[in-house]
Amino acid sequence: MFKRVLIANRGEIALRIIRACHELGVEAVCVYSQADKDAPYLRLADRAICIGAGPAKDSYLNIARIISAAEIADVDAIHPGYGFLSERAEFSEICRDCKIEFIGPSPEAMRRLGDKVEAKTFAKAAKVPIFPGSEGAVSDPDEAAEISSEIGYPVIIKAAAGGGGRGMRVCHNEASLRSNLQQAQQEAQAAFGDGSVFIEKFLEHARHVEVQVLGDKHGNAVHLYERDCSTQRRHQKLIEEAPAPLVDKKKRDGVCEAAARLIKSAEYAGAATVEFLLDGTGDFYMLEVNTRVQVEHPVTELITGVDIVQTGIRVAAGEPLPFKQKDIKISGHAIECRINAEDPAKNFMPSAGKIETWHIPGGPGVRMDTHVVPGYSVPPTYDSMIAKLIVHGPDRDAAIRRTARALEEFQVGPIKTTIPLHREMMADGGFTKGGIDIHYLERKLKDRERGG
Ligand code: ADP
Repeated sequence: MFKRVLIANRGEIALRIIRACHELGVEAVCVYSQADKDAPYLRLADRAICIGAGPAKDSYLNIARIISAAEIADVDAIHPGYGFLSERAEFSEICRDCKIEFIGPSPEAMRRLGDKVEAKTFAKAAKVPIFPGSEGAVSDPDEAAEISSEIGYPVIIKAAAGGGGRGMRVCHNEASLRSNLQQAQQEAQAAFGDGSVFIEKFLEHARHVEVQVLGDKHGNAVHLYERDCSTQRRHQKLIEEAPAPLVDKKKRDGVCEAAARLIKSAEYAGAATVEFLLDGTGDFYMLEVNTRVQVEHPVTELITGVDIVQTGIRVAAGEPLPFKQKDIKISGHAIECRINAEDPAKNFMPSAGKIETWHIPGGPGVRMDTHVVPGYSVPPTYDSMIAKLIVHGPDRDAAIRRTARALEEFQVGPIKTTIPLHREMMADGGFTKGGIDIHYLERKLKDRERGG
């Protein structure tokens, strides 16, 4: 096992990784930006090193500074968390060249699965169902039009290197396809440094279902079943749950086994998520693979009892997975609510600033993953997520009631958060019935705006 790990991230996930390290008897070194210098979780690290100014490009995205900190602290490994550098194959490669273990896939495995176009080619070979669409990137408008009329409108143009719900355009006819193609390429180039785009069928009433997978360096891959993340706004997840409601055993086993097969065939070590859309007939199509630990990993931890972050560290250190597929069982139901510093009553306007009131829920089945304490100031510089409320119950109805109860206990002020929206969702007939599609929340918000 490693002696010392550097955490190249911030906020709740940095704290989550500190905790995993300490339970493994590993020292945790944090890096931080000037905007995070007073963050209380830094005191829980064995060492904290300032790496630059607030803007991410000067600190959390600055590879040279992170590697320097790793050398100063003399760490054996770097954990990238999610976001920031976590999906940059170049970073994983530089770590390897510097003889520092990257806690995540090799640069080769990351390239194989992290690029949306490459991943689809790979998935096809592994017999994982993918969307009808272009084979690889498209740049010629005539070719794009031909492919789109073949698969039928609506289609979606996506950036090969896209992420965070950005760089996607839905086209309902050939005219809009032609006018959007070049713009999409330019946008992708500006946002991701890679202008390649591809086309796939756009599903109107799909659900987002994703499979958590873990691989090791000995050729083993195990899935930890699926999560449903259909409650989204602007392609960003707000509520996640596991297992996915209204999915029968046969379909579940089919999609989960396909995901594990894909990871195994890519010789992938570490945690990954294979994302799918589920259509009205119960068929799955792969969207993409996330080559890192995800924000919503705790719901899977609660239903399987597997510590995903610790297991990721163990496999990076060369240990084989400590369980076999048959050891993984689903127990009960778990729900995660992302608590963002945003005002849902004002079109989700960011609400940074000092938190005076911070009463967090507790009791049976309630887990809080957060770096916030009373008096903490939310910096305006980073992602708005300040906490995750994760609740476990014996079944879905009990988990919903328990989440509603926990949300009632949760008091935050004066900043605004997404808590009121989550309270509303726990009482929403569509949500409680289960099986809502990815546009459900946006339709609900729009209806409310219209209704005043
Ligand atoms: P990102 O990497 O930016 O998160 P994804 O490919 O994971 O992009 O897609 C994010 C979300 O966008 C999905 O959860 C879904 O809501 C929507 N989406 C993506 N592709 C399609 C599609 N072909 N049809 C319908 N919705 C889609």
